[in-house]
Amino acid sequence: MTVSNLYPTGPLRALDAAHHLHPFSDMKALNAEGSRIIVRAKGCFLEDSDGNRILDGMAGLWCVNIGHGRPEIAEAVQAQMAELAYYNTFFKTTHPPAIRLAELLAELSPPQFKHVFFTGSGSESNDTVLRLVRTYWAKLGKPDKKVIIARRNAYHGSTVAGASLGGMGPMHAQGGLPIPGIHHIAQPYWFDEGGELSPEEFGLVAARELEVAIEQLGEGNVAAFIAEPIQGAGGVIIPPSTYWPEVARICKEREILLVADEVICGFGRTGRWFGSEFVGIEPDLMPVAKGLSSGYLPIGGVLVGEKVASLMVAGEFGDFNHGYTYSGHPVACAAAIANLRIIRDEGLVERVANDIGPYLQKKWLALGDHPLVGEARMVGLIGALELVPAKPERRRFPDPGKVGTICRDFSFANGLVMRAVKDTMIISPPLVLNHEEADELVRLTEKTLDDTYAALKADGRMG
Ligand SMILES: *Cc1c(COP(=O)(O)O)cnc(C)c1O
Repeated sequence: MTVSNLYPTGPLRALDAAHHLHPFSDMKALNAEGSRIIVRAKGCFLEDSDGNRILDGMAGLWCVNIGHGRPEIAEAVQAQMAELAYYNTFFKTTHPPAIRLAELLAELSPPQFKHVFFTGSGSESNDTVLRLVRTYWAKLGKPDKKVIIARRNAYHGSTVAGASLGGMGPMHAQGGLPIPGIHHIAQPYWFDEGGELSPEEFGLVAARELEVAIEQLGEGNVAAFIAEPIQGAGGVIIPPSTYWPEVARICKEREILLVADEVICGFGRTGRWFGSEFVGIEPDLMPVAKGLSSGYLPIGGVLVGEKVASLMVAGEFGDFNHGYTYSGHPVACAAAIANLRIIRDEGLVERVANDIGPYLQKKWLALGDHPLVGEARMVGLIGALELVPAKPERRRFPDPGKVGTICRDFSFANGLVMRAVKDTMIISPPLVLNHEEADELVRLTEKTLDDTYAALKADGRMG
């Protein structure tokens, strides 16, 4: 018996409103409207409690890379549950799933990564990053190297360290964040912040803020720079081509660690196994989560490059006084192993690079011709549309977020999950998306843009 069969939509929704506090939600507004109840999913489609079929353009929350409902994961999980449902990895113990997952990650990741520290989520991974980079420099006799440089409008999770490293004003406003020792610089968001500069010029300007920050803070005080290869939650911000090479140059010349937050970009999203490979950088640490298990069970980790790991295995850290009860949880590891094998053995990364990626990109970029769209962008299977009141200027609607919400609501009603970041519409579908589903995604997006445009015209908001 499944839980969803117990009640029809109305009573379930009332119970949700009565007892369930949702993340990132205004509970009064949410309960007035009522949550949409998702009861099952298969492949790229969700089904809600009213029997509606919805194309999952966000792969859950950027994570269901292999698509929903794969029996291989359920089987691997069931077998591991029966064998060893839980044991820790703290006190001189380990278990086969953690060992085999660590081995597999070393095999799939760039050559500098031979070690992984397991966590339960992307946020926890970034807490681990903060502890690791500061401990690393302290053990090298440079305890002042503590500051971590991050970027405005970055997303690194919702724990205290994750939200502090992130550059989201509304998150900082709740709970007295950021914590000390974190410094935010520009994001490479040309559409919003590039002004009169060309994207290439602006990419260099944004990258050089890192150099200026290191100068101002003093190189002896800076531990690391952390960034998503492509910002996800900030609005799928694909940096200009000049940005990452310039950041790589600065990091090479300076004695700081480079941390690539691969929680979204990792495991095939960009058409490479890791976003770092896509943008051509060689980070020292890579926090991962989401696509690691395709969201089937919660698990994350930090891939630790040899620069840091060699100190740890040489005993220079002594005890690293850090870890989570569920670090390397055996059942979550079993799910992750089965997931990575599917991604590898079915060639999903190559598929994103050579087949479905280019196929969807071509159609997605053509949406840039719509009168409501100021820019369409996509790499791999991650893309965005900037909604604008008039073309061709990169101008925003007054009251940012209003139009994006209207568009997102039309999208849901049309049977497509798209997310809105203010007035930027974003998608990140499962990597198993087939050509017909890609066609449907574009068709539903077009209809959604038309519906939104018509509503705005009727309101006098366009132009
Ligand atoms: C989602 C996300 C996180 C946080 O992961 P959780 O599993 O939600 O804690 C961190 N970094 C990036 C880039 C993310 O997109």
